Amino acid sequence: MALTLAITNQKGGVGKTTTAVNLAAGLAMRGLRVLLVDLDPQANATMGCGLDKQHLPKTVYHLLLETATLTDVRQTADAGFDILPANRDLAGAEVEMVTLLAREQRLKGALADVDDDYDVILLDCPPALNLLTLNGLVAADAVLIPMQCEYYALEGLSDLVNTIRMVKKHLNNRIDILGLLRTMVDNRSTLSQQVAEQLQKHFGNKVFDTVIPRNVRLAEAPSHGIPGLLYDKTSRGAQAYAAFTDELIERCKLPVVDDSAVPA
Ligand code: ADP
Ligand code: MG
Repeated sequence: MALTLAITNQKGGVGKTTTAVNLAAGLAMRGLRVLLVDLDPQANATMGCGLDKQHLPKTVYHLLLETATLTDVRQTADAGFDILPANRDLAGAEVEMVTLLAREQRLKGALADVDDDYDVILLDCPPALNLLTLNGLVAADAVLIPMQCEYYALEGLSDLVNTIRMVKKHLNNRIDILGLLRTMVDNRSTLSQQVAEQLQKHFGNKVFDTVIPRNVRLAEAPSHGIPGLLYDKTSRGAQAYAAFTDELIERCKLPVVDDSAVPA
């Protein structure tokens, strides 16, 4: 049984995709079998994993409209995990699915077939509370919310929490908030520090201890099609995502192979 996590925040540019790609790489490095699903027509996760969004045989769009199977869509990223890629076609899926029955269940149905093939399935959601995000929330066991530590960080969070509550009540009673991840924290900025502390006060132990700093290497990595975690392993950004991966493994009690038990 895979643990399926929706990486969601309806704000754009808060680090959803960066978190999705680096967490996928981090979990794969720990020996876990990972599937990353790109649910955003902007396809940043697809490109950040080194795939060319212009030349994909089949994408998540086809999967949601049931014109391709998961095996047709699935690709393997060099970083050691599988990916269901997307491109701009996915924007059309929203409209085309409107008349379909159980349109919010499409992704869940498709992923059920591969549930045993993976330890973790990560869903990189678009920056909107739309039908694509809803498909993510219906398919997920839990939600991971990246939060940029800026003045308006908390704004909009109640909409997201209400949406998750509605989904839990009507569509997916498994779902819970796994946690909030503070991203792009600038250690030199008092504001960033204050917001980071405020979040912890507000959400207590739902906030991950690991803080992701603002780090240029993480921003450079996507243009090379490599997760930041592998692009420059010594960078503060890479180290933070490695630490976050371990914290998440611990929090979710994921079945990693214990290094210390393996003879050298
Ligand atoms: P989202 O998926 O929420 O829209 P992204 O992960 O795409 O957000 O991040 C938005 C932009 O910020 C991207 O250009 C990304 O490379 C950059 N970025 C993300 N996290 C960091 C970070 N910790 N430090 C510096 N730049 C970052
Ligand atoms: Mg994104």
